[in-house]
Amino acid sequence: MKLKARILAASLLTFSMVGTALADVSWEDIVNDAQTTEDVLMYGFGPDAQRYSPLTKINTENVDDLVPAWSFSFGDERQRGQEVQAIVHDGVIYATASYSRMFALDAKTGKKLWQFSARLPEGIRPCCDVVNRGAAIYGDKVYMGLLDASIVALDKNTGKVIWRKRFGDYKVGYTMTGAPTIIHDKKSGRDLLIHGSSGDEFGIVGKLYARDPETGEEVWMRPLVQGHVGRYMGEPSTPTGDPNAPSWPRDENGELVEAWRHGGGAPWQSASFDVETNTIIIGAGNPAPWNGWTRWPGDSLFTSGQAYVDPSNGELIGFYQHTPNDAWDFSGNNEIILFDYTDKEGQKHRAGAHADRNGFFYVTDIDARSKRGGDINRPTALLNAFPFVDKITWAEGIDLKTGRPIEVQGQRPPPPAEGEKRGASVQVSPPFLGGKNWNPMSYSPDTGLFYVPANHWTEDYWTEQVTYSPGAAYLGMGFTIKRLFEDHVGLLRAMNPTTGEVVWEHKEELPLWAGTMTTAGNLVFTGTSDGYMKAFHAETGEELWSFQTGSGIISCPVTWEMDGEQYIGFASGYGGAVPLWGGDMAKLTREVSQGGSFWVFKIKNIEQASAQ
Ligand code: CA
Ligand code: CA
Repeated sequence: MKLKARILAASLLTFSMVGTALADVSWEDIVNDAQTTEDVLMYGFGPDAQRYSPLTKINTENVDDLVPAWSFSFGDERQRGQEVQAIVHDGVIYATASYSRMFALDAKTGKKLWQFSARLPEGIRPCCDVVNRGAAIYGDKVYMGLLDASIVALDKNTGKVIWRKRFGDYKVGYTMTGAPTIIHDKKSGRDLLIHGSSGDEFGIVGKLYARDPETGEEVWMRPLVQGHVGRYMGEPSTPTGDPNAPSWPRDENGELVEAWRHGGGAPWQSASFDVETNTIIIGAGNPAPWNGWTRWPGDSLFTSGQAYVDPSNGELIGFYQHTPNDAWDFSGNNEIILFDYTDKEGQKHRAGAHADRNGFFYVTDIDARSKRGGDINRPTALLNAFPFVDKITWAEGIDLKTGRPIEVQGQRPPPPAEGEKRGASVQVSPPFLGGKNWNPMSYSPDTGLFYVPANHWTEDYWTEQVTYSPGAAYLGMGFTIKRLFEDHVGLLRAMNPTTGEVVWEHKEELPLWAGTMTTAGNLVFTGTSDGYMKAFHAETGEELWSFQTGSGIISCPVTWEMDGEQYIGFASGYGGAVPLWGGDMAKLTREVSQGGSFWVFKIKNIEQASAQ
């Protein structure tokens, strides 16, 4: 309360001093994002990424009075998937859109203040639609990643480009879809802009970057394939982990195999930041190629797990691998939510929660993980692991002592027989699209539950011959996604992190590809592929409200307070990986209309309500 009052006083002061100019954003503002209700300054609503708002004005009693305040069309003949989580600051909404666009909208009216549309070259290679998941805001700038493997800083008041940095070769598959992250490095006292890259399906080497947010100059770069060398202030720094790369095999001449040079591990979803231990926590993507026999034997570090990085120098200080030698494109990219965990013995821990594409929900000890120093990938800090979807076939469970999955024999599809192009097909669940994908879950400290946007589906899966060719898909696997149950694919589950219990669930006919948000109003919001934004009772799962937006929703809702009223905002516009890669699911979702718009809702005012 005191903090809020202080922030309010500070912003009033700024207004009186500079008149109508919009306020700059400081690290102090960002680190307090989860508590301040008048803005949304970070992907995940603060460094813990809980996607929880303390606002209660919209609650279980009045949520069915939600009505549209306005809607804005992103326009253009190009539509496709809208996966954004908006930033809200000083009465302005910053929403990124498909094809590397950003819109600044008046939060009150929906009027467009400015628009940025990146000029994209021919030959960009986004694997899974031309999406963008959001912006970062800091000082007088907003930042977004572009599909041509660059990152741009715009003047937040005008949309003018301040700097633009290319970090990879888009022709060989580097690209960027995730929202960048602002952090504060305690050691150097410096604020940093953190971002990753995408491109595992083309055999890139996944890298994490730190930049000066003012100039865009790189401070450090950390590759996530073991033995590749990082950079610090423009000079080669250290190899990642053991330079002898014992987790990647060597050929008969003692040379590391081809796959190691194109080993993936891209950190393409946004980082969380543990302020207390000064640690960047981010998921690493799948090893490339998908075909695990090209990387056999070995765990293919540091892929398909969660990476702990020192912000002062970019050193990898900890790693926990969910899927050793990932042969299923499970990847480790899904968000890691930081929260206070109480274990079955009543012990409290600073913990990370992660629901992986492989179907298991992991709780890890953040303190143990980030304070361990160079001793990486020793999984003693695993606190809990349990399935969050049904009918997982590839593993029986996770061994809490070793941290490794208990794999089911025969779930790694066999290599092609001599002279054959493809191997025998195996049915695997979850399929590569995951028990849950990039679309973030949320955590309510009120209920102690995680709200997981999950899917029930399966795949026929087989190996294929594969060699690396720059810019070509580097998979070595074939697949067909299929349904697992007749009555649903999408599955919103409220999970207890201590017991692993499903407290409630809600089924959807179509896949769920939107993030969730929870509020102190005891609500959970999420969007559906058939176009509805829905609100659920956070304790019981009862569906309390829905609204049809005219296209599928695969974005992340936000909420904020303005002139004493609470608002809900999100994008509508169907696309993403499912219609492109989804086999039977692509057929199922074919009827969903394309779109591209931003919607804002509020409770209808009392006069209107009483007149009805
Ligand atoms: Ca805030
Ligand atoms: Ca992948």
